[in-house]
Amino acid sequence: MFVVDEKEGVVCAEMSVEKMGKVYVFFVDGMLVDAGPQLCEKELIAFYNKYPIDQVVLTHNHEDHTGTAPWLQQQFGIPIFVHPKGLTECSEDTPYPEYRIQTWGRRAPFEAQPLESVVSSRSRNWQVIETPGHARDHVAFYDGESKVMFTGDLYVNPRTKVIMRDESIPQIMQSIRKLLEYEFTSIFCSHAGYVENGRSKLEEKLAYLENLSAQLKRMHGQGMTVEEIREELFPKRYPIIAFSGTEWDSMHIVTSILANQDD
Ligand SMILES: [Zn+2]
Repeated sequence: MFVVDEKEGVVCAEMSVEKMGKVYVFFVDGMLVDAGPQLCEKELIAFYNKYPIDQVVLTHNHEDHTGTAPWLQQQFGIPIFVHPKGLTECSEDTPYPEYRIQTWGRRAPFEAQPLESVVSSRSRNWQVIETPGHARDHVAFYDGESKVMFTGDLYVNPRTKVIMRDESIPQIMQSIRKLLEYEFTSIFCSHAGYVENGRSKLEEKLAYLENLSAQLKRMHGQGMTVEEIREELFPKRYPIIAFSGTEWDSMHIVTSILANQDD
C-alpha cells in the first residue's frame, strides 16, 4: 500500500510494511526527507519520478530511512546528506541483521555527505537539530518560517514499551526537551506521519518517560534487580522481541535508564 497526501505544503508518502507498520518519506521545496525501505523501492521510484528532487536529507542511517538512497544517487546523481556519525553505516553494504533484511530489504552502500548545522532547499533554510537517542546520528529538520518540523524517529508513539539495544531513553528525553525549545505545533514523524498535535504528543511522551525513569530508579533503589523491574513494569512479551532475537526488548529501556543514574 502506498498513499500520498499533502499537509502544510509537505507531500507525505505513506507505506505499510508487514510486522513493522507504517513508514513515511516527505517531500518539500525540492527536498526529500528520508528514502524509505528498499522493500518499497518500486512504489518509491514511481513517486520520485513525479517530483523534482534536488537533494535528500536523512534523519538517520537506519535501513527503513535509507533503503532507496543508492537508487537516488545512481539515477538522479543528487546529493544525499546525513549526520557525520552516520557516514560509515551509509557506506556499508547491509550493515544490519537478517531479520531486518527480511523486514525492510537490502540496502546497498551509497556515499552520503555530512550535514552541516543548516541545510538550504530552494526557498527555505532548515536547522539541523541533533537529537540522538534512537540512533547516534539522529537529527530533526526545522524551518523557523513555516514552523515545519521533521522529527524522524524521535516520537513514533507516546508510550514506548520496547526499544533497540543501542537506544538510550535518557538521551531520547534530552532530545525531546531540546526539540520543545523550538516553536511548532504539528510534526512530521517518519512512522506516525503528520501529527497535528505533535507538540503535545511529544510532551506526553516526555512526561511518560520521566515518570517511568523515576519509578524505575525508585525500584532499583529499593533493591530490585533489573529482571524484577522488567517483570513488574513490562510483563508483556511483544512478538518483536523474539523475532529480533532481543535486539528489540523492554529490558533495554530498564538498562539504559539505570546506566544514567546520575542524570
Ligand atoms: Zn530508526
